[in-house]
Amino acid sequence: MKELVVISGKGGTGKTSIVAAFAALAKNAVLADCDVDAADLHLVLDPKIKQTTDFSGGKKAFIIAEKCTGCGKCRDMCRFDAIHFEGPANDMVDKTFTVDPVSCEGCKVCVEFCPAEAMEFNDSINGQWYISDTRFGPMVHARLGIAEENSGKLVTVIRKEAKKIAQEQKRDLLIVDGSPGIGCPVIASITGADLVLVVTEPTLFGRHDLGRVAQLAANFGIEMLVCINKADINPQIADQITEDARQRGVKVIAKILYDEVFTRAQIIKASVVEYTGGAITEQIKTLWKQVMYALG
Ligand code: SF4
Ligand code: SF4
Repeated sequence: MKELVVISGKGGTGKTSIVAAFAALAKNAVLADCDVDAADLHLVLDPKIKQTTDFSGGKKAFIIAEKCTGCGKCRDMCRFDAIHFEGPANDMVDKTFTVDPVSCEGCKVCVEFCPAEAMEFNDSINGQWYISDTRFGPMVHARLGIAEENSGKLVTVIRKEAKKIAQEQKRDLLIVDGSPGIGCPVIASITGADLVLVVTEPTLFGRHDLGRVAQLAANFGIEMLVCINKADINPQIADQITEDARQRGVKVIAKILYDEVFTRAQIIKASVVEYTGGAITEQIKTLWKQVMYALG
């Protein structure tokens, strides 16, 4: 089983549209949406959820209001200003303390030092991940709670589960819609992949981001190819990106032209290759063949 990860330096490059088109072109793939902070592959693939599992990115403190004596020691010890004098009354005091789960960093200091043993340290549920069926095969995806972190850990869970399904069902390809940026989630997306395809656009940001992503892939020793999407909106920068890539020993394998059919296809929840048999579909089919060739 081979693993292809599609990433971009930032959002909005058309990465997910290209992943959706690949999903439609692949014959025997499992799909994984690891862009957990802005998951939108489901908008095109319309997955039917078969299994939902809670995701815990770590533990957080929790105050048992009935036991809290209101001494305030926990608040004094918390370096993250996560404990506030806003809890309900109990038999002992008119007001108790509470932990703000968004601010709590899970250091456990307060729990260790509470004289009344009024604190618990529990798994916090940060989101859910799903195993679904789509018209193109199984898909693993997730939803992360608002302002939740640990998306790198969730990405690792999604890839692991998607690989498990691929092995169980003897599928020969895993297509991953990777996280944008160069932080922990994208590292979790690409580590150990067979091939990374970077989708970029001909803007100064796109050029800058590509350099950072290329460095990241090089650091992890992962083969990388580049596709410049909307290449005709600024051919000069597209050429500069091609030259930058060449100097880094990375190949630009496609320059896809700007076309509104990407948006029109998305509106009706279709991939672009399902929506039209036009020039863009031919360009994406050629890109797909090149990617498959590189995967071997
Ligand atoms: S240290 Fe314990 S008893 Fe004191 S305010 Fe905090 S939770 Fe309540
Ligand atoms: S676990 Fe640490 S961060 Fe969370 S409330 Fe307690 S002291 Fe503050």
